[in-house]
This record gives sequence, C-alpha cells and structure tokens, in this order.
Amino acid sequence: MQADTLTPADTPRDACETWTREAISAYQLGRLREQLDYVGEHSVYYRRLFAEHGFRAAQLTSLDDLRALPFTRKRDYVDSIGRVPPYGEFQAAAPADVRRIHFSSGTSGAPAPQYWTEADLDRWAGLYARYAHAQGVRPGDVYQCLFGYAWFVGGLGATAGYQKLGATCIPGGSADSERQIRSIFEYGVSVITATPSFVAHLAQTARSMGLDARESPVRHIMLGGETGASVPATRERLEAEWNAKCFDAYGSLEFQTIGQDCHAQSGPHLAEDFAYAEIVDDEGQPVADGTPGVLVLTHLDKQAGPLVRWWTGDVVVRDSSRCACGRTHARLPGGVRGRADDMLVIRGVNVFPSSVEQIVRGFEGLSSEYQIVLDPSVCDARTGFLTGFRLRVELEGAALGADVAERLAHEIREKLQVRATVDIVPAGSLPRSTHKSKRVVREGLDT
Ligand SMILES: [Zn+2]
Repeated sequence: MQADTLTPADTPRDACETWTREAISAYQLGRLREQLDYVGEHSVYYRRLFAEHGFRAAQLTSLDDLRALPFTRKRDYVDSIGRVPPYGEFQAAAPADVRRIHFSSGTSGAPAPQYWTEADLDRWAGLYARYAHAQGVRPGDVYQCLFGYAWFVGGLGATAGYQKLGATCIPGGSADSERQIRSIFEYGVSVITATPSFVAHLAQTARSMGLDARESPVRHIMLGGETGASVPATRERLEAEWNAKCFDAYGSLEFQTIGQDCHAQSGPHLAEDFAYAEIVDDEGQPVADGTPGVLVLTHLDKQAGPLVRWWTGDVVVRDSSRCACGRTHARLPGGVRGRADDMLVIRGVNVFPSSVEQIVRGFEGLSSEYQIVLDPSVCDARTGFLTGFRLRVELEGAALGADVAERLAHEIREKLQVRATVDIVPAGSLPRSTHKSKRVVREGLDT
C-alpha cells in the first residue's frame, strides 16, 4: 500500500508517526538533553556514572555525543540492587510516585524490579493503543488478553493499551485453555494477544473441543514474549490456523514497548519518540541499516527506572526507510533475530534459534515445537567448540516416511551450512509453554 493511497482508517493515530527523519532526530536530541539532566539529578547510579565520565546533558550537541557514556548492562542493574536492596540505585522517581513494579522472570538470577509512575503507565498504554490502531484494531473490537498477569509484565500493560483504544477488554490470562476458547467464541472476541506458543496450543485446544480456530471471530493476533511472529513460517502457520493476521510485538521488562508491526507487517516499528535506538557491533560501534547488530536503547521520557544506553542483548537489523503504511519510525525487519548470547557459533557459522525455527515450522508433518540440544556428542572433545547441534522435533498426526529425520537434517545443512542430528519424538512429548519456551537446552555440558 502506498502512503498516498492510505484510507482514513489506516492513518496514524499520533502525528509523530509520520515525522521526517530530521524531525525525529531533532526531537530525540531535545528530549535527551532534558531526560539526561533529570536522570543525572535523580538516579544515584547515573549521577555517579555521569560524574566519572565528565558528562553533562546540557553539553549534548548531537545524538552521537551520547556515545561518551558506556552501555548499561543487566549486570550493572542487578549489582545495584544488591548494593541497595530492594530498589537499587537506578530508580529516579520519588518512592511515593511509583505506581507499579514488575519483575524480570529471574531465569538468570533473582527477579529484578522495574518501575513506573502514573505518567509512565499512561505513556505505556498510549504506545500499545497506537500500535493496536496501526494493526487495524478499532473502538468496538472485543479484546481478550492471553498474556499472564501474575508477575509477568505483559498482561496488565497490554490490557491498559486496548482499553485506552476503546476496545472491550477481557483479562483472560494464560491458563484455563478451554475456558479461553469458550470466551472467544461466546463474546465475539476479535483481537487476542499471547505468546506464539500459547496461540498454537489454543488452536489445538479448540480442535480437542470439536471447534475450529479458523471459524472463531478472532481477526487480529498480537504476539509477544517470543520472537515467532517475525519468523515467516511461524507466522504463516498461526495465521492459517486462526484465519487471522498476526503482528509481532517486541518489548522487554525495561522497555514497554520497543516495537510492533503495523498492518503492512514489514517488521516492528520502533517508537522513536519513546526510546532512542542505536544498533552496534560486538565492539560497540554503530552499524549501518541492513547490518545485524545489538539494539541499545535510551528512554526519552521515563520517570521511574530510566535507562541510558541499555544493552538489550537482542540482535536486530534496522530499516529506516519509510514504511508502506506511511509511518516513518524505523522498522526491525525479521524482528529479533536472536539473543547475542544465544547465538550458536558452529564451525565459524553463526546460527540463531530463529533460523532453525523457520525450517522446522515450514516442514510439513511436524508440530511447531522443537528443541535445540547441545550435548557432548556435538562438541569437539578437545576444544569444546560446537561441531553441530541435536534437534528434537515432534511428528504431528500421521506418521511420515522413515526418512523424515534425514530430510530435515539435509535441509538444515543446505540452508544453514551446519550439521544437525535430528531426533524425532512422539507428538506431545516436548514441553509446552504458555510463556517463553526454552529453545536451547544444554545437556551434560558445564555451561
Ligand atoms: Zn508500517
């Protein structure tokens, strides 16, 4: 769709969505000066860091000047909580002004908190409403939230956004699968948000209830918590199972939200009025559009828990050209390509779990579940380096020919240039997750 053929229903919700690149940069620079002045005054951690680097927000004359500061990493954040428990040294708002605390999943240590003031919560809801609008959701739609609410950052935040947009909201959560299906059919639910794993699981649940997800009233599915919606094979599979359009929503505890697809589905749009984004290589140097790098983000207006040059660890590719939808905020085609620390290096070839997922989910006769297993059989005994990986996949429905493992291994070798040993396991035997599925498991290895 060309920008000049947009219909009123497709038009951006907020004027900033179509700013020129110059206007976006000018806005970001102005905001950074004010935001970093606030951060340097109110965050104990950043006050110390800025002093160590002789950094003064007022002296910021270009966006590149921000590079005088080091990255902030998860370790810095967690250490500060250890020093000053339980809030840590990053929190910048007065404690009485904090309205919400969410926590990290704690998969790599104790759960770490993140904070929002009233204004922060309103901003968060506004961004979700903006993205939902860009996906075609309108007042009058019925929305059922299938993200978890307990501890997980997704549920409450998404619900507030759809409510702000004017949808009728049903806070379903991520359990009670049969009840979720009944509610979707009974209340004419037209929009759902969930993890790709849970959406796939619900389609199966519907089948087991004698219903067909394709005949449900759902037309929009916003997918978050996992990267699947930007993996074409996953998206196509879920879209076919539900007869609905799937949109990738990329966020983290620290940044709600980072980017979401528009109706053109050409990669999540960053919210460049909310966070300043840098894409950098291993050595922290900026990379050009089209080159994979790690996404580094700086809040432009967050009051509680603001972060500066936050190392997300997510590998992305940026496209700053104007989107077919008319919006100008940069996109991340392919979504999150992988975690910088999840990337497998196999005989010099970089392999992300998402590349394996693309092949598995495009392979007829397999379920959408898979596990990449690293064990001593795929490590060089002398150096410990990976020589390949084991891949566990499930048959779905009728048994395929005996050569399925061989054909899949061949396709992986052709497409990814690495060796995989494929183990076919019975349908339903891989762990199902309603939250984030663990795709890479290490068995019998030290790390
Ligand atoms: Zn777009």
